[in-house]
Amino acid sequence: MGYTTAMFERLFSAFGGSAIRLQRVVLGDSVIDLPVANLIGQRAGKTLLVTAGVDGDEYAGITAAYQLIERSKNLDFSGRLIIIPIVNIPGFQAECSHNPLDGKFPKYVFPGRVDGSSTDCLMAVIASFAGQADCWFDLHGAALTEGVNPYLWLHKTGNREVDALANDIVHYGLASTILYERAHFGLKSAALAKHGCSYIVAESGSRNTSLAADVARHLAWLTSTMQLLGMIDGLPEKQETQVLTSVSFITASSDGLWQPVLKAPSSLPHSWGKVVNGEILGSCCHLDGTGEKIIRATSSGTSLWWKETSRLKKGDILLATGR
Ligand SMILES: [Zn+2]
Repeated sequence: MGYTTAMFERLFSAFGGSAIRLQRVVLGDSVIDLPVANLIGQRAGKTLLVTAGVDGDEYAGITAAYQLIERSKNLDFSGRLIIIPIVNIPGFQAECSHNPLDGKFPKYVFPGRVDGSSTDCLMAVIASFAGQADCWFDLHGAALTEGVNPYLWLHKTGNREVDALANDIVHYGLASTILYERAHFGLKSAALAKHGCSYIVAESGSRNTSLAADVARHLAWLTSTMQLLGMIDGLPEKQETQVLTSVSFITASSDGLWQPVLKAPSSLPHSWGKVVNGEILGSCCHLDGTGEKIIRATSSGTSLWWKETSRLKKGDILLATGR
């Protein structure tokens, strides 16, 4: 079914109809209505931008963002909350991670530009919201083809305030797994840090579902982050966490059929947890059945995300491992 304004307005009426505004955004030849909630707190304070659906087929984050809007309407907080529960509206409509209007992945485009392609225009709007924020919390999870081990992804940027928030997140152990990498030149997090804005990627969510536990994890991370930003009272309870500092990938070398090993087939989602160097991850072959190749882990570490569905395209990430 195609997306219509009426559909969204029906959806929003379940939220009292007032917190979300549909902002008309021109994406080249197309126009979308971008859902935006702009919530002003009772006192002055930091501005937090929360986005979901930058990958249009990651549903736990989208559900969490809508729930955050609902619970924030009557919340006593300082500062300003800008929540965009579905950024990639064209991808959401088409049930895919990328933007089908130009084939680009919005997560890889920043800061975009108003005279560019559809995704460039979309991300220019998101960048303008980020320009008003002290922190951008970007909710992700498993796409329709993936599995994910929940984790928070932070970057060391060299900006004192930005790194202080990241260090606090590590100190309190907001997530049981935290990937804390050095920000490379050109990364979105490095560009945002120059303007004093922290960029945090939150990964929680299973393929094709919005499991309550995955949604609750996003909301707990957001509550703790708002505490660390001084937007709400209290401090997070300190938890144990494993901090990873790098990530490596095993990718498909050709198109074909992927048959992953299901490590825990009785549970949904199956999770790789720890990976041991040399462990069999699955096998791939050409579509005529020839050329079977066993794919093994090339390093030990903690699985972060992996490919669960059968279609194999050259370059697909089969497993991302953090160390
Ligand atoms: Zn994503």
